[in-house]
Amino acid sequence: MFKFFTAAAAALTLAVLFSSNISWAAPHKYSNLKNKLIMLDSGHGGEDSGAVRHEVKESHLNLAAALELLKYLELLGAKVIMTRDSDRAVSLNERFDALETHKPDLFISLHHNDASDNFYKADNFKNYTEVYFSSLYDGGLENITSGLCFYEAFKELYKVNSVKLKPGYFKVIRSKTTPSILMEPFFMGEEGLVKLATSPAYIRHEALTYLKAINSYFNRLSETAAGEPSFTPLAGLNAETAAVFLNANACETFLQTAASLLNAADIKTVINSDNFMDGRNISRHYISKLLTIKNHFETDMLASYIEAIRSNAVSAKIHISITFNPEAPCTVSAYYRSDNGKKLSAALINNFKQIGIDIEFQPASFYVLSSTSAVTTVINLNPRRVNINDKHIVFTINSAVYNAVKTYLINK
Ligand SMILES: [Zn+2]
Repeated sequence: MFKFFTAAAAALTLAVLFSSNISWAAPHKYSNLKNKLIMLDSGHGGEDSGAVRHEVKESHLNLAAALELLKYLELLGAKVIMTRDSDRAVSLNERFDALETHKPDLFISLHHNDASDNFYKADNFKNYTEVYFSSLYDGGLENITSGLCFYEAFKELYKVNSVKLKPGYFKVIRSKTTPSILMEPFFMGEEGLVKLATSPAYIRHEALTYLKAINSYFNRLSETAAGEPSFTPLAGLNAETAAVFLNANACETFLQTAASLLNAADIKTVINSDNFMDGRNISRHYISKLLTIKNHFETDMLASYIEAIRSNAVSAKIHISITFNPEAPCTVSAYYRSDNGKKLSAALINNFKQIGIDIEFQPASFYVLSSTSAVTTVINLNPRRVNINDKHIVFTINSAVYNAVKTYLINK
């Protein structure tokens, strides 16, 4: 965007960069920013000023941070696209269309938060940062990773007490293919903070906090790429690389049969039949990973992402949970926003039909299905209708599941 940087200006900016009061704990490697395509979406603009508090417009704060961040990113070799670089109105659709057209490596929507007067007046009001990552992202763990990196970096934002990391459904972060973040660094409640936020020093501080988050995201991606293949996007799945996570604590025979079928076809399986944590069926093997990551999440977030984290631990890209509930009909459920889940469900429905078991598709949003790293379905079989103690039937059902997985993988 800005090509006016001379060597002198670059040297000066770098000096500013490294003399910032942000604590750069470890020596930071910025080489992974080179040639990355980053889209900065400065919220609001023009007649849409967003929040207005203490005579300061949110749209101005957003643009100031984005323009400052742009300078650092370009200096470090990233390519930057701005949805706006002046005080003008840009519709949410235009922003989202630009994202889908350019398909950047990372999309960041920059905002500042507002709430009601009562929210600010409450005795226990404490300012905090909100980090939203796309709840629709249908690839690997990139979106959660980006969320965690922003979460980590913004813990050091001046005058702000805590950071909340949440999945978001805002228009601009609904891409299924681009990791997308929407940031609300602070609420524009306290006059002192809002006035301070218009100063060049604070704008630089905020932009550098963004830079730190973005940089650590690309560093983490490259570290992961060098090690575990857990970032292989779903599009890269094939029968050779897929691992299938089977989860059916109610029926050990079922698991064993399914596993041997899948293994015979060179599809790795991971079986979970341990019970931990309030019956949520978390395997002992993954507990330590969960505990280390737990503090990053709000309590209600933990449950939502247990499955995503678990699948990362085993590199499984497909989860099939099977439950046996005599009170419920025979159904297959997938997360209601996941196209891949619906595709796998369709294959399951078809194959079950062929063996005389009618299962219905039931979109759901409960936590076990909301994994963002794996295609997840839950099949419920009513044992009054399906005799799971009959080994022949168990084998037939497992063949149906296995063939559905194959069909799904081949048609992807
Ligand atoms: Zn806003």
